[in-house]
Amino acid sequence: MFDSLHFSNSFARLGEDFYSPVRAEPIADARLVSVNPAAASLVDLDDTALASADFIALMAGRQLPPGARPLASVYAGHQFGGYTPQLGDGRALLIGEVQNRQGQRWELQLKGAGQTPYSRFADGRAVLRSSIREYLCSEAMHSLGIPSTRAMALSTGSTPVYRERIESAAMVLRMAPSHIRFGHFEYFFHSGRHDCLQQLADYVIEQHFPHCAGLPAPARYQQWLLEVVERTARLIADWQAAGFCHGVMNTDNMSILGLTIDYGPFAFIDDFDPGFVCNHSDSHGRYAYNRQVAIGLWNLNALAHALSPLIPVPALKDCLMQYEPVLLARFRQRMQHKLGLATDQPGDDELVGQLLQLLAAERRDYHDFFRRLGNIAAAELATLDDSFVDRERWRSWRTGYQQRLAREDRDDSQRQA
Ligand code: AMP
Ligand code: MG
Repeated sequence: MFDSLHFSNSFARLGEDFYSPVRAEPIADARLVSVNPAAASLVDLDDTALASADFIALMAGRQLPPGARPLASVYAGHQFGGYTPQLGDGRALLIGEVQNRQGQRWELQLKGAGQTPYSRFADGRAVLRSSIREYLCSEAMHSLGIPSTRAMALSTGSTPVYRERIESAAMVLRMAPSHIRFGHFEYFFHSGRHDCLQQLADYVIEQHFPHCAGLPAPARYQQWLLEVVERTARLIADWQAAGFCHGVMNTDNMSILGLTIDYGPFAFIDDFDPGFVCNHSDSHGRYAYNRQVAIGLWNLNALAHALSPLIPVPALKDCLMQYEPVLLARFRQRMQHKLGLATDQPGDDELVGQLLQLLAAERRDYHDFFRRLGNIAAAELATLDDSFVDRERWRSWRTGYQQRLAREDRDDSQRQA
């Protein structure tokens, strides 16, 4: 089945300042837990390929396709606000980049494939429990229309992994056009290797922002950063609207393509508590649900700082200034969709803001509330009145919403859908 994979390995050509070649460490008695034909089709692999012995060998870490150049990349990052000068792929191997029949490139990463020079004191492994979470959630995010890394397959085996208790080792075959993080740029900036910084920026622009490549410097870098700011702003607006809490928004977990990456202690919010913290090791609540918006900008500031050798400071500031308006516009649009509104009208921000305050005051289940709003006909929303403690407040919001719906030119079944 591997003959159909065509590797290009452009990242490997950057040279060994950017990574270390690493071999996968197999897991014993490996078996597939699940395969995802939708993600596999992105690199032209069909069901026969996914059922082949080659594929199981890959998912065991035993044998990689010919042409794969397994490597672990080096990066750094701000973790919980403090700078760590060297991190890197400690348990994920970039096995190569595959070009599909449409000419699109996808990086394939095997996560949980054993130790690398960047594993520090850890074992390079992933456990089945957290791998299932990543496998399911990354695909769920994609299906919700939220940019994310993808997941093609999940395997497990008998190799023991020592956490709070002994668990089974697992591997996820993760995919993205690029897994480059803000932290890759911080690594070269803070270590004073500005030639590598520029090489990496040129590489990312050429591969993923080709429309910027023809611009002269520094406009080329400025336009690229602006687009990273915009993508990040839209991503975080998407998270907020979906009630998604990332849990570890360190700069090494921020994708340069604006993808959701690194599914650790993530959660979808249940009872609407804006201060909800999903990561039990985040004792100060740095990455609470209602701080994600500010942290997104903080992280972009760290990226902008790292790019200061390439972009003059006033231009860096101009780029960062776009974060807030882009985020607010996207959030408004997402919330209008959640409310079944097809048009953009004055007063919509207040309608959304008042609703969120009400849901927070009542600690209402966020998703359950929106499901009900969609399942009940607009004329019958009064049936929800009794489910609120502060009925007057709800009733006043509901009336405002019903009046707003009367200004939409479509019937209620469309709103409900
Ligand atoms: P995270 O907070 O999961 O993004 O991880 C931060 C850093 O620790 C990254 O460089 C990871 O590659 C590394 N890391 C996390 N878990 C492990 C592990 N089990 N083995 C090796 N490195 C790890
Ligand atoms: Mg990480």
